[in-house]
Amino acid sequence: MLPPDNHVHSEYSWDALAGSMERTCERAVAIGLPSVAFTEHADFSISELMPENWYPEQWQRYVEVVDGHSILTPPAIDLASYLETLERCRDRFPTLRILSGVELSEAHWFPDQTADLLHRGGFQRILASLHTSSARDEDYADITASIKRGDPIAEYRGYLAEAVRLIEEYDGFEVLTHIDYPVRNWPHERIPFDLSVFEGDIRLVLRTLASADKIMEFNTRIPLDPRVVGWWRQEGGKGVSFASDAHVPEAVARGFKEAAEVARAAGFKPGADLFDFWVRD
Ligand SMILES: [Zn+2]
Ligand SMILES: [Zn+2]
Repeated sequence: MLPPDNHVHSEYSWDALAGSMERTCERAVAIGLPSVAFTEHADFSISELMPENWYPEQWQRYVEVVDGHSILTPPAIDLASYLETLERCRDRFPTLRILSGVELSEAHWFPDQTADLLHRGGFQRILASLHTSSARDEDYADITASIKRGDPIAEYRGYLAEAVRLIEEYDGFEVLTHIDYPVRNWPHERIPFDLSVFEGDIRLVLRTLASADKIMEFNTRIPLDPRVVGWWRQEGGKGVSFASDAHVPEAVARGFKEAAEVARAAGFKPGADLFDFWVRD
């Protein structure tokens, strides 16, 4: 049995252009997944679209050009339609446990907007994410661009330091997502990625997360390095949440078999019921 997929996007995430809640549920049932959480993006940070980064034509409607910079302001979730579709899917797929959820970006920078959204949404899975570099006082701090342009080691260090601040300053979440997010855009042609360079920084995030009694996410978009899962166990981590971070139905639970093996080898096991996070063995 595969672990629950606690981080999936549907058409209610602004960047999931080919997302579909219904087809994702269909696929989840077909592959025998016990549970899926639709954690749509709540992005309050604005960011700059860099000319060298490809982005789909459909994003143009969220872009404004300011002093020659293309500034992207992500739209809010259409909460009413999202909740309605969720209910329809629950009726249509009674054997699948379908959880509501949200992926909060930089929640510690936007406490009021975040609190308001959580109050209106009543979400079952609340994920805390960072998608920006740490330079909040600089304009348009989007890490997928800055890691390609700038010094990637400093950028990733800044990201991890900001993750510590997020955990310390914001308590309203359950799971910290993709600690390896900047690695997705690592400029390998310029500088090889060496995880060991970041061991101290990553361990500090994990230690802070463990003392806050939160869960670490095992994101399979790029499979999380097994060493990180081991460090999480050593730093006292109580549980693991599996996440495909799928933006299309076909990607739900992608890489979960291998991820589950890694988590087991690191000392984690399925929770008391199939729908739970994995726990310490
Ligand atoms: Zn994310
Ligand atoms: Zn996501």
